[in-house]
Amino acid sequence: MNQDVDVAIIGAGSAGLSALREIRRHTENFVLINDGTYGTTCARVGCMPSKALIEAANAFHHRHRLREMGISGGDRLTVDRAAVLRRVRALRDAFVAYVLERTQDLGERNIMGRPRFVAPHVLEVNGTRVKARHVIIATGSRPVVPPAWDALGEHVITSDDLFELEMLPPRMAVVGLGSVGAEMAQALSRLGIEITGFDRVEQVAGLTDPVVNRDAVARLKEEFLLCLGANAEIDVESACVRVSAGANTVIVDKVLVALGRRPNVEGLGLEQIGTELDGDGIPRFDPRTMQVGDLPVYIAGDVNGHLPLLHEAVDEGYIAGYNALREKPECFQRRTPLSIVFTDPNIASVGQAFSELDKDEIVIGEFDFSDQGRALMAAENHGRLRAYADRHDGRLVGAELCAPRGEHLAHLLACAIHGRMTAQDILRLPFYHPTVEEGVESAVRRIAKQLAGHSGPDLASCESIWNETQD
Ligand SMILES: Cc1cc2nc3c(=O)[nH]c(=O)nc-3n(C[C@H](O)[C@H](O)[C@H](O)COP(=O)(O)OP(=O)(O)OC[C@H]3O[C@@H](n4cnc5c(N)ncnc54)[C@H](O)[C@@H]3O)c2cc1C
Repeated sequence: MNQDVDVAIIGAGSAGLSALREIRRHTENFVLINDGTYGTTCARVGCMPSKALIEAANAFHHRHRLREMGISGGDRLTVDRAAVLRRVRALRDAFVAYVLERTQDLGERNIMGRPRFVAPHVLEVNGTRVKARHVIIATGSRPVVPPAWDALGEHVITSDDLFELEMLPPRMAVVGLGSVGAEMAQALSRLGIEITGFDRVEQVAGLTDPVVNRDAVARLKEEFLLCLGANAEIDVESACVRVSAGANTVIVDKVLVALGRRPNVEGLGLEQIGTELDGDGIPRFDPRTMQVGDLPVYIAGDVNGHLPLLHEAVDEGYIAGYNALREKPECFQRRTPLSIVFTDPNIASVGQAFSELDKDEIVIGEFDFSDQGRALMAAENHGRLRAYADRHDGRLVGAELCAPRGEHLAHLLACAIHGRMTAQDILRLPFYHPTVEEGVESAVRRIAKQLAGHSGPDLASCESIWNETQD
């Protein structure tokens, strides 16, 4: 039986479901085609179980701060790692169940199978043809594992396997210290696993500012062994794994491979849609419309390799769904880039990365949290924030940080950048005392000091407000 629909969405992940919500505002004539497990990467094996594990690990780790606060007995606390993992899975199941509700009423419009393009408008799935006026590709990504390591069986795991473990082994290596690797290495270490982290570069968690990176590396090094700047090699030795990089070698029970993710494009027949594909097999697309070339095809979420984060996948699904039902695609302004790595201290990058900026065109405001009042009270006075502003107009353009409760500071900075605020505008915002947010205020004040001609009174004068309302 052939089907004729307005829209075919390929992939029932966060991007696909976001597109679906938008499509359903206008038509019920669609199909959602999914190959693989339903429930989304975020809820099943990504954001949600990883943060549930981190919460437990941090709760246990905080026992080290208790003595300093005058509380004894912390060193007698123990962790039941099997129970931690059971809780992670129970939470994960609840999050997944909530996601599954969103496809429950689709009936035959929910097709399980792997589709293949035979033309830009036509897909083949499970032996039938689906003719769609528009197609949205939202097939996500999967962890990269070098083929030689894949052959090492259960000794080598990825984030897809980690939360399924009933028990954690005593010694683990984490290879790759981007956001996933850094988060999981610290969480596992805090749960009492002997961890060694490896990365071929000297930067961790996506940081590009060498000053902030130095702080982040120093913090992580206090908790587990880090081997940076050399390629890791792994070999199985009877029941264990030998991991070597440069002059360092460790013997561990399992290796968590966190080398990034690759797009799920195999078998989709993208070569049939008549557009050029890049080296990863991804067609050229416009990130403001999500349209592939000038075809009736859209590509959203991790599969396009653009911004592999949950909120971006949701935005891209929305844009694709919005445009798939219009004659002419609308161009959308993307949000200010915001990436948070849930290590402790949190690591975050906001707006333009330090590496992208012309250093002659910016001024930098730096803040060191080692003496900050609120951070001292909480015994979490570590880390650094560096904010960057355009030297000519004083607007904030980016920031990188490794700071206590940095997730909230990053949000604040992202909102300021999104609102095109200058250092002076930010200094006129309300800042409560005593909070870690005062670290942002201090960094921005240091920017304002360097901006000749852009400083003014700390508060907006009544006259300036009156003038604004008259404009
Ligand atoms: C460990 C980990 C932690 C993370 N933490 C965070 C975080 O804290 N914050 C954050 O913002 N982001 C985080 N992310 C990233 C976030 O999870 C992803 O950006 C997001 O889930 C991507 O959604 P998606 O819709 O593109 O892909 P997915 O949710 O993976 O959806 C893709 C769907 O397509 C299906 N599919 C695959 N191939 C085919 C095919 N050929 N045909 C049909 N269907 C197919 C799959 O079964 C799946 O249902 C994390 C990721 C990981 C792995």
